Amino acid sequence: MVWQKTLARPLTITGIGLHQGRPATLTVFPAAANTGIRLVREDLPHRPQVPALYTSVVGTARNTTLGDGQPLFFTVEHLLAALLGVGVDNALILVEGPEIPIMDGSAAPFTERLLATGFRLLPEPRTYLVMRRPVEYREGERWMRASPGQPRITYTIDFPHPLIGRQRYSIPLNTSAFCREIAPARTFGFLKEVEQLRSQGLALGGSLDNALVLGEEQVLNPEGLRFPDEFVRHKILDVMGDLALLGVPLLGRVEVVRGSHDFHLRFIHHLISQEESWRLWVPPIYNRKLRRSWSFTPAWGGVPAQA
Ligand SMILES: [Zn+2]
Repeated sequence: MVWQKTLARPLTITGIGLHQGRPATLTVFPAAANTGIRLVREDLPHRPQVPALYTSVVGTARNTTLGDGQPLFFTVEHLLAALLGVGVDNALILVEGPEIPIMDGSAAPFTERLLATGFRLLPEPRTYLVMRRPVEYREGERWMRASPGQPRITYTIDFPHPLIGRQRYSIPLNTSAFCREIAPARTFGFLKEVEQLRSQGLALGGSLDNALVLGEEQVLNPEGLRFPDEFVRHKILDVMGDLALLGVPLLGRVEVVRGSHDFHLRFIHHLISQEESWRLWVPPIYNRKLRRSWSFTPAWGGVPAQA
């Protein structure tokens, strides 16, 4: 894919926030080339805006939180994974509160709505981060590595629970594999933990409609699992949401063993610091005439003036 992509028209999504349990609404607006993904808090004075970049991360406790020093956007990871998974480079996301709707705990509702809305190619080539040498980051038994090769993510988890145990999954990074194999995998938690979170006033919006909940020996959700290895697939979704914070797609092989949001983020900081191991690459444009003949005229009336 050479050209940058945005949405064909605005897309509004409503649901509830996982932690506060209140209604949560966002609208994804198309944006011009080189805007990247940006989030705006519509409900606050001065409408604070932050880029969806690893430098905007202010919290990684059980979710990825973005802000400008203060936390502004909780649980961005599934939406960002969906945007990366379908290849959207540029979008302005207006959010009416602190939480991104949790939907069904997976990225499928986001990817389905994005695909139904459609896309528009922009007359600027995309920039990629291409791996030149392997970069590895390790903390005891957990490690993460990015190396040169065909874009692919391989994840291994090992949970001491009879339903999870050791699971490994690997997918090539393309839209159809993402939508089919990764996007529908739901977030998961353990009943004991859920009770603890609730006593702290968290996960108030959490229910069997938006998370897999595991008891001592069984899944409490009456419909069961969507995939026998839904847990490790969801970890791939989570790491994609975190890798989206690089701001450009990574061209290379990614392997993770026993990761978490905070670990993924520490890897990203390490990767960025290893400047000799990667380069930013823009695919050559063979048809410059075609590029000149394109112009970006927003058919949807443009982004609201102050955004
Ligand atoms: Zn998740």
